[in-house]
Amino acid sequence: MVDMNAVRVCPVCGVEAMHWTDEPLLEEFREGTFEVTGFTYEKCDACGETLIRGDQLEDVFQAAVATARADLGRLSSDEIHQLRHDLGLTQAELEAQLGVGSGTVGRWERGTVLQGATADRLMRVLWAHPELLPELGYVAREGRGPYRTRGR
Ligand SMILES: [Zn+2]
Repeated sequence: MVDMNAVRVCPVCGVEAMHWTDEPLLEEFREGTFEVTGFTYEKCDACGETLIRGDQLEDVFQAAVATARADLGRLSSDEIHQLRHDLGLTQAELEAQLGVGSGTVGRWERGTVLQGATADRLMRVLWAHPELLPELGYVAREGRGPYRTRGR
């Protein structure tokens, strides 16, 4: 059992000012800084360093991404998952359509990474207009997806 009242030496600045807190965490994204509540972690009063347990990190990122998406009006994890299925695409195929790196769509669907404004809008356009998929220049493997190549 952890003594929540204990103050210990900060491993970063060396001052005995590291203590437990559950005050809101601030997570920075390109779009701004978002508050995340509901986590207990250690914080140094001297240098401001925060120590978050490794097994809490994914939960903290997910909470921050969910807050940012709600504030910015971006698609949720469930919506991204749903539109990908509606379009008949694997994660790798959606990445190819959007021109984003390998593994990106999985991180969006797990909610650990915030999708950018451009990708968000492009996904909304594709969701509403799946006939545009081949226009992006990416053609699915034969037998996959509801689209076909255009004869030129
Ligand atoms: Zn410190």
